[in-house]
Amino acid sequence: MRKHERIIQYLSLTATVVATSGLLISIPSFNSVKIEKSLPFFNISKLKESSPELNLVSICRTDVSENQWKYIVIHHSATEKGNAARFDNYHRNKRGWEYGLAYHFVIGNGSFSGDGEIEVAERWKKQIHGAHTANMACNRVAIGICLVGDFENGGVPTDNQLDSLVKLIQYLSRRYTISVSNILLHKQVHQKGTACPGKNFPFAELKMKLLQMASNPTNHI
Ligand SMILES: [Zn+2]
Repeated sequence: MRKHERIIQYLSLTATVVATSGLLISIPSFNSVKIEKSLPFFNISKLKESSPELNLVSICRTDVSENQWKYIVIHHSATEKGNAARFDNYHRNKRGWEYGLAYHFVIGNGSFSGDGEIEVAERWKKQIHGAHTANMACNRVAIGICLVGDFENGGVPTDNQLDSLVKLIQYLSRRYTISVSNILLHKQVHQKGTACPGKNFPFAELKMKLLQMASNPTNHI
C-alpha cells in the first residue's frame, strides 16, 4: 500500500479507534512472576517466502498438538540488526536459557534476515511456552513475536515488518480465537518495567489494521 493511501486510511479510521480503544486495550493480570532460567536446545526453522503472500499455514505448522494460546505479546529486539539465530545465540549462551530463543516468531528488518521475513522458532514447532516476559503465567499462554529493531531509541518498524505482523497476528488470532484486546505489547504485561517494544511502535495503527481486516470477510485466510 502506498504511503498516502495509508495516511488516508489512518485518518478515516481514527475516530473508530479512539472510540473503541478504551474497550480494546486491557491489561491482563497474571498470577506468578518467575524468570525462566534453564531450557533445552532447539534449532531455528527459517522460512523465506518468495511469493508476495505469506504461506501462514506452512509457517505456523506445529510438530505436536497445539496449545491453547490466549494472548499474543509483541516485542522489539532493542537492536538495530539481528535475526532469530543471533537472538537464539544470545538467549542460549548469554542468558543460559536451554530452549534458546525466547520468542516463537521473529520478523526481520532486512539486516540479517529478509525485510518482513518471518522466522519460526522450534519453541513454536514444539509448542513450548515462551520466555519472552518475566511473568511465567503469561509465558505459558502467550505467543511471543519479536520484530527486529529498536523502536524506543531508533525508528519504527518497516512497512514489510508491519504487513507481516498484521498477517501473522490475523492468522494466529483466528486459529486460537484470540481477541484484539488480548494482543499486547510487552510493556503491558505485569512485571518489572520495560519499554518494549518501544515508544515508536505504532500500536494504534496495528490495531486499526487488524480491526479493518476482521471486518472484511474477504481478508479471511
Ligand atoms: Zn519484549
